[in-house]
Amino acid sequence: MNQKIERLIKQFAKLPRVGNRAAQRIVLALLQTRDGRAENLAAAILDATENVVPCAICGCLTDKNANVCEFCRDMSRANGQLCIVRDMGDVWTLEKSSVFHGRYHIIGGLLSGATGVMPDDLNIANLPNRIKDEKITEIIFALPNTVEGKTTQHYIMSVVGGNVRFSELASGVPLGGDLDYIDDGTLSLAFGGRREL
Ligand SMILES: [Zn+2]
Repeated sequence: MNQKIERLIKQFAKLPRVGNRAAQRIVLALLQTRDGRAENLAAAILDATENVVPCAICGCLTDKNANVCEFCRDMSRANGQLCIVRDMGDVWTLEKSSVFHGRYHIIGGLLSGATGVMPDDLNIANLPNRIKDEKITEIIFALPNTVEGKTTQHYIMSVVGGNVRFSELASGVPLGGDLDYIDDGTLSLAFGGRREL
């Protein structure tokens, strides 16, 4: 195989849920159909990677020129609720289902002895300040229902202390399931029936 093509396939195959076969199909579609899609894709990737950054407060991806993200700017979302999620995909899932109207906090991973993820690797340090500054009264954990998710949850509770209520999504979230595999109805139920900790 041509080295340039091979290199391109390898790059696509590194993406989540894209195997080698899918990567080959993508590359063929880009190289065989010369309608500008390859150039547009390359330009869009560069534009997004250069101009989208994590919000300094909550970690949500936002425009580089904006100081803070749309959620942190929106005063109608300052309702005292803070939802802790692992990544931006979880925020998109929750936004799509319209179950939550407060603020988010993306921690960027889960504590794990197996993969060596330590508290310092997560976006947790500014949580106590946020709780004070934004008058947070309830922290809602929307983390995966796994050992790592629970460990992370307990750690955050110990760091934050007892000045807020804690809750977690109710049953309905499959064990080991990520938020983006859950349908809107199940997510609404899990959110509405959340359990106080
Ligand atoms: Zn933000």
